Amino acid sequence: MSPAAKPPPPPDPLPPLREVIARHGLSARKALGQNFLLDLNLTAKIARQAGDLSASDVLEIGPGPGALTRGLLAEGARRVVAIEKDPRCLPALQEIAEAHPGRLEVIEGDAMKIDAARLLAPPVRVVANLPYNVGTELLVRWLTPPEWPPFWQSLTLMFQREVAERIVARPGSKAYGRLSILAQWRSDARIVMSLPPEAFSPPPKVHSAVVHLEALPAPRFAADPAVLEKVVAAAFNQRRKMLRSALKRLSPNIEAHLRAAGIAPTERAENVSIEGFCALARQLEGEIS
Ligand code: SAM
Repeated sequence: MSPAAKPPPPPDPLPPLREVIARHGLSARKALGQNFLLDLNLTAKIARQAGDLSASDVLEIGPGPGALTRGLLAEGARRVVAIEKDPRCLPALQEIAEAHPGRLEVIEGDAMKIDAARLLAPPVRVVANLPYNVGTELLVRWLTPPEWPPFWQSLTLMFQREVAERIVARPGSKAYGRLSILAQWRSDARIVMSLPPEAFSPPPKVHSAVVHLEALPAPRFAADPAVLEKVVAAAFNQRRKMLRSALKRLSPNIEAHLRAAGIAPTERAENVSIEGFCALARQLEGEIS
């Protein structure tokens, strides 16, 4: 081994996930979106997609019985803060904390209601396998703070494959929409893994994919975030309409603003680049806020 090579992480000393789940009676609850990962090689691979964890605090949402948590710790995360809503999972997570003294803090609660940023020291990487509805809402929150850069340096998140495709979609494709623009305006987003339903227990009905987003130091193009969000929401709410009609309630002069932004008023939202939407948001800044 060369002097610069990293030593291999210590082996995970804890019992297999199936045993943990059986011992703690963690039957999966649909209402909490519980589809658990069991394969620690797979969760270590997901953890590696998040980049070098050894110098980062990691925020994990929805650790469940802890397969991904164990992957994050095995891959050398400096510290993991994990927020879990289901109190049944806490004893299993406590065992992981005891096996990695001082490196795992488990918080019982609803991630939608907890201000996680204040619990972590930068740089922060967020890694999660979340219920899909919670995941999309948290992603939108993480992508839309008033100030940039945000508290996180990267997000590595599991989604239903169709949602992952929307996050990374380019103009001109059916999947391109509000989520693509919010994600790609201020970060680099790519799909880094695909997972079949059988990777989970119980298997969900859909395929899944892991998306990795790295925050850019500054947005790609200047725009007020609140104005951009309103323009994009209105444009894609009626994505089949021409923009002059989809956006007419935003301004009586929408045709002139579209032209000034370099967009044909007859264009449809799915063909407009992020640069184009930002130019339009700048045009409209005086009229909407
Ligand atoms: N990360 C684990 C894994 O990969 O095996 C569990 C994944 S499971 C899809 C989602 C987890 O998120 C469950 O443990 C569930 O209890 C938890 N959860 C659901 N809603 C939550 C919320 N609002 N806040 C925190 N955790 C939540």
